[in-house]
Amino acid sequence: MEQYIMALDQGTTSSRTIIYDKLGNIISVAQKEFTQIFPREGWVEHDAMEIWATQMGTAQEALLNANLTYQNIAAIGITNQRETTVVWDKKTGEPVYNAIVWQCRRTADYAARLKPHEDMIRAKTGLLADPYFSGTKLAWILDNVPGTRERASRGELLFGTIESWLIWRMTGGKVHVSDYSNACRTMLFDINTLKWDEELCGLLNIPMCMLPEPVECSAHYGDTVPQLFGGPVPITGAAGDQQAALFGEACFSEGDIKSTYGTGNFLLLNTGEKPVPSKNGLLTTIAWGLNGKVNYALEGSVFICGAAIQWLRDQMKFFRSAEESETLAASVDSTAGVYVVPAFAGLGAPYWDPEARGAMFGITRGTTREHIIRATLQSLVYQNEDLISAMEADTGRQVTTLKVDGGAALNNLLMQFQADISDVEIIRYKSIESTSLGAAYFAGLAVGYYDSLADIIASKKIEKTYRSTLGEKERKEKLEGWHRAVNAARAFHG
Ligand code: ADP
Repeated sequence: MEQYIMALDQGTTSSRTIIYDKLGNIISVAQKEFTQIFPREGWVEHDAMEIWATQMGTAQEALLNANLTYQNIAAIGITNQRETTVVWDKKTGEPVYNAIVWQCRRTADYAARLKPHEDMIRAKTGLLADPYFSGTKLAWILDNVPGTRERASRGELLFGTIESWLIWRMTGGKVHVSDYSNACRTMLFDINTLKWDEELCGLLNIPMCMLPEPVECSAHYGDTVPQLFGGPVPITGAAGDQQAALFGEACFSEGDIKSTYGTGNFLLLNTGEKPVPSKNGLLTTIAWGLNGKVNYALEGSVFICGAAIQWLRDQMKFFRSAEESETLAASVDSTAGVYVVPAFAGLGAPYWDPEARGAMFGITRGTTREHIIRATLQSLVYQNEDLISAMEADTGRQVTTLKVDGGAALNNLLMQFQADISDVEIIRYKSIESTSLGAAYFAGLAVGYYDSLADIIASKKIEKTYRSTLGEKERKEKLEGWHRAVNAARAFHG
């Protein structure tokens, strides 16, 4: 009987299931969006039961669509939106409150109170004191949902990020685990000792009995209850979305780096078996735990990437589909001196300037829509380059190759700009579904579906590579122009 791997991709706006064969070909896909709940300005929640229902619904649909049964599935791997926080009752499985989503800013004052401890937090977790991470969200639930702190202290409630929640439910409440790549995003986990940290839990007043057992990203956690798919299927892989994408892009070795060009942009650099602290505003995170070893990564993100292209399309009405940005930008041979700074939501690493706003410089009577589109595409590249140089400064190593995925990575002009400005070779694989592929690889390795990392590398096909065509002088000039534009945009808010 043919065997496949089932990847569950639990994202921020939809739950998806993708069934892969050994070569990474997609056998079946099912996807379902779920409700985004905005109870107040800046608050974002999901219904954890809806996440569970849509995720299982797509899993069953994906099997059905391809005429497969549970017996065709060698293993299940999970990848998920990170940091999103669920608390549920150990006996009934009922969530005590909606899942608080990573984007939710309700715990800004908790994070502000942690600021004096930031050096300790950074040293232990690799993170900043920010409401983004799960710890303050969990503390908020215990502080605001009546009775939960007492119930949690009595051992009646459990905490988990989304992979933990799904595994617990899929195993019928038998298995309460969190993989290292998710656990390290809670701000409660010491990435050096691989243990939940008493001091951090104490700061946020979190009973440690509600925390899941930390586990590697590729291991047999448990089996699905037979009622779900007609029989038991081993669950053997789990990783947060960005780390799964790093793995899915086969960035297995120290120095390997990937960039995901989606709504925002996430850059992750594999730093090998040692955590590298950042002096340039990047996060230090666990990439994965595999075969008794832990790989670390430096992570940087850009808030506005493809979102700038959406803005050109929807607000500026410059074109109807994002793909047109490429032909329009290619119709002029330069930006004619125009720079766009897409700081619509402030600037992240290495600037960390939440007050910054978007700006455009160098406009003349001759400036056209095409110049602005070209300058916007280039701005995505410059933002990425700023992260790459921050990583180079932190590691003391030159980046020479960059692997790319995400919707906007299909824009050839954008990729050529990146190769030019960052002076790197860019590799785009045939499948840019790297997040779910990463989950499939973790799951497949644990059951011998893949023999080794070399086996996976051999299965990957490169679609296109890009190399720099720009001289050093021109590269420097362009980057200097960008940095002048960023500084000018930042000066505007005083
Ligand atoms: P997400 O997973 O964050 O929703 P995707 O990886 O699906 O994002 O990528 C979609 C984003 O990429 C959108 O913001 C869109 O504007 C942008 N995008 C898609 N295709 C192109 C293209 N050819 N050129 C530039 N941007 C694009």
